[in-house]
Amino acid sequence: MRENYGKINSMKNTVEMRNILLSVFSLLLLQATVYSNDAVVVEEKIQDGAILLRDNIIRENNIENSTIEEILPNKYTIIKTISNYSPIRENADVNAKRFSHLKKGATIFADDSNEDFYRVDLGLNKPYWIEKKYVDVSSSTNQKELPEIKDIILSDTDKYYTIKVKTPILTAYNEIEKTDKSLEFILYDVIFDEKSLKAKGKSEANFDISKDEFNNLKILYSSKYILTGHDVEKTPDGLLIKIKKPFSVSKKHPLKGITIAIDPGHGGGDSGACANGLREKDINLQVSKILSEKLKDEGAKVYLTREDDVDVDLYDRIDFAKINNADFLISIHQNSLPNRANVDKKHGVGVYYYNKEAYKLANEIQKSLVEGTEFRDDGVNFASFALTRSSLPVCILVECGYIIHKEEAKKLSDAEFQKLLSDYLIKGIKNYLVENF
Ligand SMILES: [Zn+2]
Repeated sequence: MRENYGKINSMKNTVEMRNILLSVFSLLLLQATVYSNDAVVVEEKIQDGAILLRDNIIRENNIENSTIEEILPNKYTIIKTISNYSPIRENADVNAKRFSHLKKGATIFADDSNEDFYRVDLGLNKPYWIEKKYVDVSSSTNQKELPEIKDIILSDTDKYYTIKVKTPILTAYNEIEKTDKSLEFILYDVIFDEKSLKAKGKSEANFDISKDEFNNLKILYSSKYILTGHDVEKTPDGLLIKIKKPFSVSKKHPLKGITIAIDPGHGGGDSGACANGLREKDINLQVSKILSEKLKDEGAKVYLTREDDVDVDLYDRIDFAKINNADFLISIHQNSLPNRANVDKKHGVGVYYYNKEAYKLANEIQKSLVEGTEFRDDGVNFASFALTRSSLPVCILVECGYIIHKEEAKKLSDAEFQKLLSDYLIKGIKNYLVENF
C-alpha cells in the first residue's frame, strides 16, 4: 500500500484526478444518503458502484493498483458505520478478538487499509480494525477535528437508568463490563473540560464521569445489584446509554412481570444438526413451544422468535427480542460435534454466554438442567455467538443435549422429556431471580 504513494503523488494530474473523483464520490454518497433507511445491502451496492467508477477513472488515467486512500493523500479517511452490529477488532481478521461494537452512524478515522479492512485510529496506543462492509467512506482529512462534549444528562425511566451524552458527531465508543455489577463507557476522540463537565438531571444510579489515560471520556456505572442488561443508542444529538434497573422480584411469583423471548434455533432452510432420524430445528421448536406455555402459566410474558418452520436472520431474532422489551433472550438448540466419533466423551447439557451480566443466569439454568435431565454436565461455556453477544436483552444459548448421542436424542425428541426439560429450565430462571434480587 505504502509504496504506491510516491508514484501517485509524482503524477502531474493528481489534483485534477482527485477533484473528479471527489465529485463522483460526493454524488454517489448523496445517493447513498437518500437510500439510508434501506437495507445495508442497497448501500453496499452503491458503494460498489462508486468503486467501479473510481476504478474506471484510474484505468483511463493509467494509474494501476490504486485505492481511494492513495488518491486522497490526506492522513485520515473518515468512515461511518452502516450497520447496528459493526465490530471493531484487534486485528485485520474476521476471527480476531472484538474490541468494541458500534451502532449505525458512528464516525471513525481510518489511517490505512487493506483489501477487506480499514485500520482505525481511536487515539489509543495501538491500531484497531473494522471490516469495509460495515462502513461508508464519508471524506478525508489531515487533522482530526474532535467534537466537544458540553452536556451530559441523567434521567430514570420505568425500566432504565439513562445517561445522554450530547455530541455533534458520534465518534467510536466502548462498553466494558468491569464486573457483573459495574460498567464502563468510553467515548473516544472527543474533547471536554473535565472540571466544568457535570451531569445535569437526576438518577438513582451511581455514575462517575472522568478522563482516562488517553483523555477519553469515561463514564463508570456501579451498583450493588448485578447488571440486568444495557445498551447504547445513537440519537440525533448524541449517544444514549441505557442501563436496565434491577428487577423487583416477588418471592412467591418470581416470573410475574418478567418478559422472555424464546428463540427456537435454526428453521426453514437451516435444519441445524441432523442425526438419529431427527432434525435439530424441529426439536428446538417443540421444546420452545412447551417452554413458552409453561412460562406463561408462571405469569411471564413470552415472545417466540419463530412459531413455524421458517428462516429467521440471527440479528432479526435479537432485534425482535429488543423491540418487545424482553428481559431475557433464551436460544434453544441441540448440540453436535464436528467429529461425531467423540460423542461418547463429549455430550450432555450445556449453557453458553458471552457477557458477564449473563453468567449467573447461565449458571443457575445449567445447575437446574443437570439436576433435572440427569445428563452429563457439559458446562457453562463462554462463547462469542450472535445469540450470546447481545447485552440487551441479557441472552444465553441452551444446548439441551446432543442430537448425535443416541440415548440423549431419544429423550430430547420425547414430549414428556421436553416438558421436564422446560420445568427445570424455568426452575433455573426462578432461582436466578430469587437469589439475586
Ligand atoms: Zn443449533
